Amino acid sequence: MLKQSPYILYSDGEGNIFEDTSMLTTGRSGWDAWPIELDEWIELPEGGSLYELPGRRGIGLNAETGEMQLCDKGWAVAAFIPPAHTGFYMAAYETMPDAPTLPLFCYTAVGWLDGKFYVPAVRIEQDIRQECGGFDEKKVKQGVKDLIQAYPHNRLVKHLADNCALTYHCPAARNYFMGRWECPIPSSPACNANCIGCISFQPEEETIVSTQDRLRFKPTAEEIVEFTVPHLETAPFPIVSFGQGCEGEPLLMWETIRESIIEMRKHTSKGSININTNGSKPDAVRELCKVGLNSIRVSLNSAQEKYYTPYYRPNNYQFEDIVESLKVVNEFDGWTSINYFVFPGMTDSADEYEALRKLIKDTNLKMIQWRNFNIDPDWYLGRLGITETGECLGVKQLQELILEEFPHLKYGYFNPPMERIKGDYTQDFAHF
Ligand code: SF4
Repeated sequence: MLKQSPYILYSDGEGNIFEDTSMLTTGRSGWDAWPIELDEWIELPEGGSLYELPGRRGIGLNAETGEMQLCDKGWAVAAFIPPAHTGFYMAAYETMPDAPTLPLFCYTAVGWLDGKFYVPAVRIEQDIRQECGGFDEKKVKQGVKDLIQAYPHNRLVKHLADNCALTYHCPAARNYFMGRWECPIPSSPACNANCIGCISFQPEEETIVSTQDRLRFKPTAEEIVEFTVPHLETAPFPIVSFGQGCEGEPLLMWETIRESIIEMRKHTSKGSININTNGSKPDAVRELCKVGLNSIRVSLNSAQEKYYTPYYRPNNYQFEDIVESLKVVNEFDGWTSINYFVFPGMTDSADEYEALRKLIKDTNLKMIQWRNFNIDPDWYLGRLGITETGECLGVKQLQELILEEFPHLKYGYFNPPMERIKGDYTQDFAHF
């Protein structure tokens, strides 16, 4: 535990970042800035990066008086913390009237002390599949060359190579081309939701852009099966996952996915077949479970319908449908996770805590993937019409309370392989 809070950071607007030792860092929860407990800080993990936030002044505590004040030496600074870590507070700042909307990344509080950067966060996942030090670009490129040669007519392998691995540097696609762990299967060019912070499609009128382009074709079951069966057969801890950041909603392609699962399971019983989804079509989920779907991950910004609906803006489905999808997979004894977008000040409110408890009980949920919400906080709260957020539990305490009440529940950041689902969940991944 740190002996004191880290000092606040600011930028000169030209990418240079400095510490201001007259002020200590605070953390943002909802619309408010709070002091951060000393036991909530960890060193900024490898793979983390720093952002300067134009048009924003950092909020700190005067190191002598403890009074809250603005740092007017430069722009505010935030950290992007790497996957497998969950942030407890966002960066606290005051936004100037003409400040631009921030792009779709997470903005965690960050400070400086004794030569190091610190963030209020926890390593929530021990699995190392997205550790930045574990990617060997030479092996990725060799894998791309070999697999494009092996599947010359496969549009999906070409998409995963050219766009995902070599352009977006998607960790899932790079793991596929390194022949290990989780392999992505994007399949749907369309979606039946209109999430405000969609990472694959942003309407023209929005000032921010999506972080990747949406798939433009519908793969066939043959194309899907051709590269996934060898992966399930040969990769260590193999998983194949429908539902990726570069597509719409996979359940809109459920017939093709069903056909693919039937074919895959004709050739191999290895590994886990997972779907990352908005959970909108429980009947389709049931058809997929009947043919061997092993695991589902349903994404949500809130376990409360009143915040879910204005964010997802669903076409022809309701919040209840996503709950039903989790229940269906549980009925088939499949693995159920939620991809829970953590927004301090919303996720840890007393009402959200009660709603999350209810969701866990009603669906016999197996796992929570505590994901940092990649969105501009002012923009998100503004679009949901939230003017004040009030008292909260704190994300750290929320995680502790939930685990106390539901000790069977797994916490993480990634879909577990079958070796974990069926075997020893604490199995060690500590090798590349
Ligand atoms: S469900 Fe996914 S693809 Fe669809 S709008 Fe939301 S983020 Fe985008």
